Amino acid sequence: MRFQALQDSGKRTHIEVEETGRRSELFGKNVFNEERMLQFLTKEAFEKVKSAIFQGTKIDRKIADQVAEGMKAWALSVGATHYTHWFQPLTGATAEKHDAFFDILPDGRAMEKFGGAQLVQQEPDASSFPSGGLRNTFEARGYTAWDPTSPAFVYKTTLCIPTIFVAYTGEALDNKAPLLRALHAIDEAATGVAQYFDKNVRKVYATLGWEQEYFLIDKALAKSRLDIVMTGRTLVGASAAKGQQLDDHYFGVIPSRVLAFMSDLEKQCTKLGIPVKTRHNEVAPNQFELAPVYEEANLSVDHNLLLMDVMEEIADKHNFMVLFHEKPFAGVNGSGKHNNWSLETDTGVNLLSPGSTPMKNLQFLTFFVNTIKAVDTYEELLRSSIASASNDHRLGANEAPPSILSIFIGKQLSDVLDELEGVSKGKLSPEEKTELKLNVVGKIPEILLDNTDRNRTSPFAFTGNKFEMRGVGSKTNCAKPMTILNTIVAKQLTDFKKEVDALIDKKNLKKDEAVFNVLREYIKTSKRIRFDGDGYGQEWKDEARKRKLSNNKNTPEALQILTAKDSIALFKDMAVMSEVELKAHQEVELEAYVLHLQIEGRVLEEMVYGHIVPSAIAYQNVLLENVNGLREVYGAAHKKFAESQLNILEQIGEHIVAIKKLTDEMTMVRKRANGLSTINKKAQSYCDNVKPYFDTIREQSDTLEKLISDNLWPFTKYRELLFAK
Ligand code: ADP
Ligand code: MG
Repeated sequence: MRFQALQDSGKRTHIEVEETGRRSELFGKNVFNEERMLQFLTKEAFEKVKSAIFQGTKIDRKIADQVAEGMKAWALSVGATHYTHWFQPLTGATAEKHDAFFDILPDGRAMEKFGGAQLVQQEPDASSFPSGGLRNTFEARGYTAWDPTSPAFVYKTTLCIPTIFVAYTGEALDNKAPLLRALHAIDEAATGVAQYFDKNVRKVYATLGWEQEYFLIDKALAKSRLDIVMTGRTLVGASAAKGQQLDDHYFGVIPSRVLAFMSDLEKQCTKLGIPVKTRHNEVAPNQFELAPVYEEANLSVDHNLLLMDVMEEIADKHNFMVLFHEKPFAGVNGSGKHNNWSLETDTGVNLLSPGSTPMKNLQFLTFFVNTIKAVDTYEELLRSSIASASNDHRLGANEAPPSILSIFIGKQLSDVLDELEGVSKGKLSPEEKTELKLNVVGKIPEILLDNTDRNRTSPFAFTGNKFEMRGVGSKTNCAKPMTILNTIVAKQLTDFKKEVDALIDKKNLKKDEAVFNVLREYIKTSKRIRFDGDGYGQEWKDEARKRKLSNNKNTPEALQILTAKDSIALFKDMAVMSEVELKAHQEVELEAYVLHLQIEGRVLEEMVYGHIVPSAIAYQNVLLENVNGLREVYGAAHKKFAESQLNILEQIGEHIVAIKKLTDEMTMVRKRANGLSTINKKAQSYCDNVKPYFDTIREQSDTLEKLISDNLWPFTKYRELLFAK
């Protein structure tokens, strides 16, 4: 397969992409957006959908019928034949089941049918999706329900309706339902606080701008490796002579085949209303990044998931395989998905953006300090939101932010917070107020962008007018980190408001005095989370331990916090997840962890027994034949010429013995782990006992790869995978 693949890939040239007009004309062409709604809906239906989006009001059945009618008419006009409820089961991917619009009437005539009932609710067979024991398979009842806040779109010939996926008892079986609840919580909490500064604010949106990193590998080459096909990463493979050390790929010229893929992808995205903007090469060879303009968080999450689906398809068309795994190749950088996050009011103000007046800056400081405080209190919870088997390879490895959460805010803002720490308790003298307004708050420059974005390794960095969460894995559904981040900030802002109101009511403080007083305490008590240095070294690990910051290096450990007493109380308090849901979601995550490692273990076994050992033996036989031939020709004198061959034979022999022994041991500990009684124990055992074998087996394989004749090595090599253009 390897040599056939090399031949196939060598022949490829880029696939021409037809340019079809301006991006701005294409934008949202396949989306049932406001413009289409105005055109296809009655005025009444349009108003009702708008108020469902902005005020969260319910849509009754009569209106749903009207919306369905309009949606159908539009979808048919752009060539749709089917519709689907598009949802996000806990597998992390998206799911869909297509139904044709087509229906047969009682009198035998055929017609296109799609009504309010089909729009609002569907019942996919929920039994085959992970549910963490939320329902037994014999009562496999779950339903998908329309989310009007994310517009329907037509992809290929299917009308896709974004939906949540819940059990009949109401528990979330997906990632979207908790996200929507968290976004509701942050809206309520942040609006309350924003009204201290502007009475006109009615709503606050969380915003998200993700940056998707990925690898593109020639399709034939990628498919020639069973580990890539089955696990999305390479389980063995000796490093290429050249890696990323020359730094010649980052921001370099984009290869023509890749550029054609990108243009095609961007065209599709534009039609689907995904506002893609930036594209460039990343650090590792064959690694790239795509970033959009930020959007409201729910829509942005949907767009990221849709993007990943579209990417797989367009990659295939261009004879690539796209890898979203966080660490597909050892020894070169892995992929992440930075989550840029902020809060924006319905009056168009970014609450994390400093302004031109002291009052605007006080508003900025309020949201800035509360975010820091929230992350400080719930750092372990935030860490749990980015835990997965695949992201474990990256967090704490050299290119990615460490598994210890900390916040980078830059020198300028650190100085401001230091000053604010000194604010007097209680009422402020007129002089102090003037001083604060003029020389502290007033001095925060309107534009901080250039001064803040320096530390590229901080897991949570302030970048001028937003926070950037950098530990998120490239494969992760952003709904997970976004649910937790918005929940903890919502909780923090709720507490803040209570404290400020109490100072105003009971201590007779003016509003800004009360705000300063509470912020001062937060700055003092959340100092440990602020760290501007290098997060890689042992020094920071020691320091972090002293600061009592958590350092959960692997997924089973990181997920424990989800069901801790305080977490359960927090999620209940914010009405984001019930205890039952938290336990179920934790179980699903742990189960996924075990399944991923189990599959990797099995694939590795097959590679060792089915390919690596046989290839090693084949090369041994070549050498043996050669030695025997030499002996026949030279008799006793052959030793001089056979010395190297015998030495290599011996080395190969040793490695075959070692790799077989390790593989058998791994199988044994795997079986033992499978037999453990709880999912927690299983996951921990896979982590502690099984996973270490992946590295030791790999070492043996990589040594054999270097010893064995190139033409006998079965797996496409790193240099071939990473440097084929
Ligand atoms: P990089 O981090 O690669 O240097 P940028 O800092 O320009 O690049 O990051 C840009 C990302 O930040 C984009 O995805 C953009 O959409 C997002 N972004 C910008 N402003 C906001 C905001 N207010 N809220 C959320 N995301 C934002
Ligand atoms: Mg970034």
